[in-house]
Amino acid sequence: MRAVVIGTGPAGITAAETLRAQDPSGSVVALSTEPYPPYSPAAMADHFLTGRDETLYWKGDGVAERLGIEERREAVVGAIDVDNREVVLGDDERIPFEGLIIASGSRLHAPLEGADLAGVLDFKSMRMANGLIGRVKRGEARTALIVGNGFIGVELSLLLADLGVDVTIIGRRTWIMPRVLDRATSAVAEQGLAHRGVKLLLGVEADAFVGTPSVTGVRLQDGRVLEADLIVAATGVKPHIEFLGGSGIVAEWGVHVDDNLQTSVPGIYAAGDVAEARDWLTGERFVHAIFPNAVTQARVAASNLLGAKLTYEGAEAMNSLKHLGIPIVAMGTIDSPDDVLRWSSGQSLRSVYLRDGTIIAAQLAGDIRSAGVYRSLMLRRADVSCFGRGLVEPGFDIGNVVWDALAAR
Ligand SMILES: Cc1cc2nc3c(=O)[nH]c(=O)nc-3n(C[C@H](O)[C@H](O)[C@H](O)COP(=O)(O)OP(=O)(O)OC[C@H]3O[C@@H](n4cnc5c(N)ncnc54)[C@H](O)[C@@H]3O)c2cc1C
Repeated sequence: MRAVVIGTGPAGITAAETLRAQDPSGSVVALSTEPYPPYSPAAMADHFLTGRDETLYWKGDGVAERLGIEERREAVVGAIDVDNREVVLGDDERIPFEGLIIASGSRLHAPLEGADLAGVLDFKSMRMANGLIGRVKRGEARTALIVGNGFIGVELSLLLADLGVDVTIIGRRTWIMPRVLDRATSAVAEQGLAHRGVKLLLGVEADAFVGTPSVTGVRLQDGRVLEADLIVAATGVKPHIEFLGGSGIVAEWGVHVDDNLQTSVPGIYAAGDVAEARDWLTGERFVHAIFPNAVTQARVAASNLLGAKLTYEGAEAMNSLKHLGIPIVAMGTIDSPDDVLRWSSGQSLRSVYLRDGTIIAAQLAGDIRSAGVYRSLMLRRADVSCFGRGLVEPGFDIGNVVWDALAAR
């Protein structure tokens, strides 16, 4: 098959690799807007801190040559001509395909006045991250304001603090990573941030990025204007779907896919941050923009494009804070539990969210050794009511206690 993959992020390069492995006589063209080899955005902070490349370029040097794919950088897709089965690049070049995988990921979502001002930075792609960190490394930036208290804002704040920048996070909600962490777990993370010198300005609404001709500060809703050398937007991400207009491929927030990850157009699949796939728990369409979902979806989408009939089991919500100093893991969705069990000691905190006797979410800080056990029980939808409070108490995950108890039921 002549296949085209839009994107060489974790989803795109995994799809390309899967296509080559399962269809050695076919051809694969993989397109990316950026000038870099396939990389993992999740490894950017580590790369800029340590200079290490191995996890950033996670498929290794020369991955395109090794796989025998045609990888084209700075090739921006402007449209998809579904009738003629062609991808149309910005310069009107047309690339024909028999099968197509859309893995165009996500971009910064900054619905704030002045977000398009010159100098508003973000940490969503290597191109932007290189510009941002380049300024720090050249000694041009001693202070930074990050608008947005979600995962990327927090991860960037830790990197900047490690690079000696005086960082403040501005967040509308009153606790950090509010879409992922509950207040209790967030409080542990906030202590960690304070320990690393990151300042938090929470419960404060940023109104606009301001400055002429380039950005110099952030105006708050109460009229105050805060200034800094670096002004960063970390207000969320949005699937990259601009080029789908007029194609007939159905997309709302992200691209709609069925349980085989096929879009509304036969022979065109989507995977990764761009795809609105089913949530494993609720069954509702949702974008859980994390690396493992991108990779799993890419494998399923590529296999199905070649004729397999794999059903995607559903996207998981799972996050971990890698550079805080206190390990934190959050999984599942904390909405509408019928019970929440908590255990804490010192800086360690475990919270397990239950509904109808099954785990729907778990959050761990400090001692995170039970994370794998909770995840496994959650994904199996195991009835854990037999454990009672023991579920969160020390020793729960030791030995075969859990599995023996479940097997005996
Ligand atoms: C700072 C940061 C830290 C993160 N940390 C974690 C973490 O710890 N754990 C975790 O699980 N996840 C993490 N993530 C999320 C994870 O990186 C994403 O879920 C993952 O990168 C999604 O992969 P993707 O291939 O779908 O999209 P992306 O990685 O966004 O790649 C999209 C690709 O599509 C290309 N593209 C886009 N539009 C076009 C176009 N019009 N034409 C041609 N090509 C196009 C881009 O150039 C790129 O190659 C992090 C993300 C960031 C930004």
